[in-house]
Amino acid sequence: MSADCVFCSIVDGDIPARTVHETDDVLAFLDANPLARGHTLVIPKSHAQHVKDLDDGLASDLFAVVTELTPRVQSTVGADGANVGINDGEAAGQEVPHVHVHIIPRFEGDGGAPLHAVGGERPDLSDDELDAVAEDVTAAIDG
Ligand code: AMP
Repeated sequence: MSADCVFCSIVDGDIPARTVHETDDVLAFLDANPLARGHTLVIPKSHAQHVKDLDDGLASDLFAVVTELTPRVQSTVGADGANVGINDGEAAGQEVPHVHVHIIPRFEGDGGAPLHAVGGERPDLSDDELDAVAEDVTAAIDG
């Protein structure tokens, strides 16, 4: 629980939400300002601001609910697809500082865009530079 966190207040029942699913550690509710019918947010009940703050177990529990809910939300609203994503950090557009996975149903011809549209100007990276990035990330994980 974090003071002044709107999603912690929803978990605690201090702010109302349209809950659609709940487990011991995860809560899913409708976005109050939906981008599409059925736009759903899936959050860990315990406060975590960024993806990196989720421990392995909680990350698995969160994603399990996302994979369970996505097709059900889609079929409920008759969607043809869905964008599933996280704005992680202010630079990425995160406004509520409590990790939340957006499930945004998508409909043929709805005028929306793919996740690729969230990026800024594309970098022009050579094969060598891409190789170096891949090596650096691998080293950061494997140590
Ligand atoms: P983000 O930019 O990823 O942090 O998105 C935050 C999302 O939370 C937005 O889509 C808001 O519409 C949604 N939101 C903010 N407050 C509430 C609330 N009290 N209940 C439901 N959704 C909310």
